Amino acid sequence: MVKNIGAMLLVGLVIIILSISYRCENNNINAREVAITIDDLPTLSHGILSKKDQIEYFNRILSILDEYQITSMGFVVGSLIDEHEIGLLYDFCSKGHIIGNHTYSHFDLNKTDPFVYCNDIIKGWESVSGFQCADKYFRYPMLHRGDEKHKKDTVFNFLMKSDYIIVPVTIDSDETSYNISFVRAFTQGDMTKADSIGKEYMAHMIKQTNYYDSLATVNNNGQIPHILLLHMNFINSYYLDDLLDWYISQGWNFTTVTEAMEHPFYTKKDRYVGKRGISFVERIF
Ligand SMILES: [Zn+2]
Repeated sequence: MVKNIGAMLLVGLVIIILSISYRCENNNINAREVAITIDDLPTLSHGILSKKDQIEYFNRILSILDEYQITSMGFVVGSLIDEHEIGLLYDFCSKGHIIGNHTYSHFDLNKTDPFVYCNDIIKGWESVSGFQCADKYFRYPMLHRGDEKHKKDTVFNFLMKSDYIIVPVTIDSDETSYNISFVRAFTQGDMTKADSIGKEYMAHMIKQTNYYDSLATVNNNGQIPHILLLHMNFINSYYLDDLLDWYISQGWNFTTVTEAMEHPFYTKKDRYVGKRGISFVERIF
């Protein structure tokens, strides 16, 4: 009898240990990951910011990425590079980040002939290929991949033949409108308004992250490593650290685009043809 109780206790102990160890492993499997991508490098003025402001905000974002030890991928618009900002891209490379092609003119494929668009991709590559951290990664401006099948296919086939990796977005932040309002309030010296826009921006980013994470988990039958779209803009230079802190507080880890894209989710076919610039999570059905 005593022997039996001893054996039962031993079996119980083993089950508890196995269950704890399974839960730990499972937590690791389910740890959420996000890669940071930044569009529209080097900088945008929105017709308001001075060159000095633009250079300062770029440097603030670069310092935050450095502080959080994040290796990001930045997508450069060739026509935005001028002699004042070319050094920023060298700094970006020296910190270990990767530069991808975001076209030369930031054309909207919905409104552009696909052959003109492909030539603009070539021109875009000519303007970034000299940077040592540039590689053949491509991000469609506005995430517009073609509103008609022949346009979509022409550009897609061109990118494949030219050895590009198309970098999708799963968490579409769509934070541009917050940035423009923030820039206006800030430059008018209305810090109460700027602060309130900043709070709205944070709530928006959290909402977008949770929405796309839930959608991806349902659509993919399990969690995926995400790719977040941010822009090299003024508001991010003030709130990126708060945003990264929020991700950390929710148990997210930061990864790179190349690591994230090793997940089989990113081999799924983009089935959407239309005008909208939507998340890859919404394109695969
Ligand atoms: Zn863009």
